[in-house]
Amino acid sequence: MTTVDLPLLPLGRGVDLGSERGVECPGDLPSASDPDLVARARAAKEALGSRVFVLGHHYQRDEVIQFADVTGDSFKLAREAAARPDAEFIVFCGVHFMAESADILTSDEQRVILPDLAAGCSMADMARLRQVEDAWAAMEAAGVADDVVPITYMNSSADIKAFCGRHGGAVCTSSNAETALEWAYQQGSKVLFLPDQHLGRNTAVLKMGLSLDDCVVWDPHRENGGLTPEQLHDAKMILWKGHCSVHGRFSEETIPELRASIPGVQVIVHPECKHEVVLAADLVGSTEFIIQTIEAAPAGSAWAVGTELNLVKRLAADHPDKRIVFLDKTVCYCSTMNRIDLPHFVWAMESLVDGVVVNQIEVDDDTETWAKVALDRMLALPGKTHKD
Ligand code: SF4
Repeated sequence: MTTVDLPLLPLGRGVDLGSERGVECPGDLPSASDPDLVARARAAKEALGSRVFVLGHHYQRDEVIQFADVTGDSFKLAREAAARPDAEFIVFCGVHFMAESADILTSDEQRVILPDLAAGCSMADMARLRQVEDAWAAMEAAGVADDVVPITYMNSSADIKAFCGRHGGAVCTSSNAETALEWAYQQGSKVLFLPDQHLGRNTAVLKMGLSLDDCVVWDPHRENGGLTPEQLHDAKMILWKGHCSVHGRFSEETIPELRASIPGVQVIVHPECKHEVVLAADLVGSTEFIIQTIEAAPAGSAWAVGTELNLVKRLAADHPDKRIVFLDKTVCYCSTMNRIDLPHFVWAMESLVDGVVVNQIEVDDDTETWAKVALDRMLALPGKTHKD
């Protein structure tokens, strides 16, 4: 039996992630009610042929993902783009920081297009370069900056990745965060973890053996991050006060009820969830880990999944022999991911057919150079796969 318990929201509504981009599409956006949208998208893709390569993030809507040449997490998609040097146009059905990463990892000749510039990421937006520079200056004033290695999650803007590159740090994903922290603690005695406090805390405590007391939270909206110099001296992990507006909403309080109503259910969650949720779950891991675990599970098994709803719905549809439920009915789609809809996709693709490049994402050369330093440090880490 396939079961997915969904919140009663029409597709397209969801958590408002408050993107500050708010960019309107220039040109004529097709009407969402145009019955020919699928045919138009197909025709544009055929017309562009191998000149275009379409990337679809796991959290995208089905109406868009059907046109993806490859699906995956953000890092896999950026690498897939880099592995297609002949593709002139990379149309990224994802959010802004992902398109930036694709631009960093692809050649100068390739152009990366985000069909809707308003598709941001609330988590990435929670760490602005100026705020991080101010935090670093405060750590210098406290005399600890020389001990701090900045590590940023892939889900951050290019200039934050570049900051980490410039200051001896690296990028990590949710799959290799433990390896990245092991590396970081060989370089210094403290880590500044950006921008997701939950991934940082979960990895530090559950994988690295740190205690919650070893972790402090830097709040960019408070003076000196809300921390005293003594707290900075004593801390081993300085967590940036950022979170995912989707994963951060799951609550541990739903889990006992689910266990009672679905005997044998296994709870599997993403490490962007709060520490209490991760502690109450059976398994925690990246998007790819969740997909692979459920694929490998025996028929008849039951799963409560704590990650983005579009992916959970797709897992349920793809595995009718298993019972797959959404962990929390009060949590909904990532609304900025959902901004990439069929009208925007058709508009971007048809513009390319007409010889007009719209919504190109370009990272400036200096930022790209230093962001690539941080990404390359991650790629040089031993072992683990590099997925988020
Ligand atoms: S699911 Fe969370 S981390 Fe991913 S794009 Fe949406 S807000 Fe950002």
